Amino acid sequence: MGIRQWVARDTPAVLDEAAPMVSSMAPPGAGVALEENPVATLDWAALQQRVENCTRCPLHETRTRTVFGTGNRNADWLIIGEAPGRDEDREGEPFVGRAGKLLTEMLYAAGYQREDVYIANILKCRPPNNRDPSPEEVACCHAYLERQIDLIQPALILAVGRIAAHNLLHSDLQVGRLRGRVHRYGQRQIPLIVTYHPAYLLRSPLEKRKVWDDLQLAQLVYRKQLAGTTDNN
Ligand code: URA
Repeated sequence: MGIRQWVARDTPAVLDEAAPMVSSMAPPGAGVALEENPVATLDWAALQQRVENCTRCPLHETRTRTVFGTGNRNADWLIIGEAPGRDEDREGEPFVGRAGKLLTEMLYAAGYQREDVYIANILKCRPPNNRDPSPEEVACCHAYLERQIDLIQPALILAVGRIAAHNLLHSDLQVGRLRGRVHRYGQRQIPLIVTYHPAYLLRSPLEKRKVWDDLQLAQLVYRKQLAGTTDNN
């Protein structure tokens, strides 16, 4: 699985400026309002400590380590995955297993090192046997991610995989139907792009081309976002 396989070829159709850019999937109030978020005022150190000590759901009984998130806390790109797996549970860092290595290659193809972006998950603790997170677990954990998003203030969110996409967008559409357009997240209406999870790509390598297209779309949206920010200044 070499990085070379991610090198650009031609321009994907989704880069067409006329392509639909905004999805109505995300409810306008998606995300937790600050006043409802019990960790809304915590700084990074306090938030990380709160997560390390968290016992809000039963996953604390089976975890080895919490997986808070990693990377640049001032990143423009925030990558959100599902939940820690076995390797992440052991190391305390997201996306360090095989899927993580592929995610690193994906980011590299988009022009980023891991250290340039921030990487987090919907859940901070590993569900036993890597089962899907339950709605209760997601609800318990959501305020932490929400506070991270608020602290980072990313210009773009990349939701990797079904679990991230479904929980961030409050949708149950297949990833194949959610990708290829721009969703908006939370009160700040942060652009959100959906793509396939690298673990899925390990099983279905032919889908890499679509992920490349998604990353191109993300780049386009990000550049537009930056231009908009500059215009407003
Ligand atoms: N899969 C994820 O979604 N997140 C991780 O951190 C590791 C694997």
